[in-house]
Amino acid sequence: MKVRRIAIIAHDGKKAEMVAFLNENKEFLKHFKIVATGTTGKHAQNAGFEVTRYNSGPLGGDAQIGGLVSEDKITMVFFFRDPLGKHPHEPDVQMLMRLCDVYDIPLATNPSTAKHLIKSLISEMKS
Ligand code: PGA
Repeated sequence: MKVRRIAIIAHDGKKAEMVAFLNENKEFLKHFKIVATGTTGKHAQNAGFEVTRYNSGPLGGDAQIGGLVSEDKITMVFFFRDPLGKHPHEPDVQMLMRLCDVYDIPLATNPSTAKHLIKSLISEMKS
């Protein structure tokens, strides 16, 4: 069976929400390997999750995760973006989101959408 990986990325203003979200969905996440951009991954590791970390976002982490998407290695992306912040790596962010669309990979850019994605995956896994 194919390894199922979830990619997590959170802009600085959203990292606390990401950790809270991960904690709320601990059981579900046991079915997946987690990959992350550098600092988001560090926060998740500090919260007790096993995570493969890539570069920090501004240093190419989003682009690396985009690469994994293009290699069909990612099942789903949770990218909690901060719409109120400015990000030097915005082109990489756009690239990652575009690749999710190219390869039709579910992408949640806020916790509410992520919650719905998880709900539907759980019911899919049960059926
Ligand atoms: P970070 O990168 O997890 O290294 O902070 C996330 C981002 O800003 O895209």
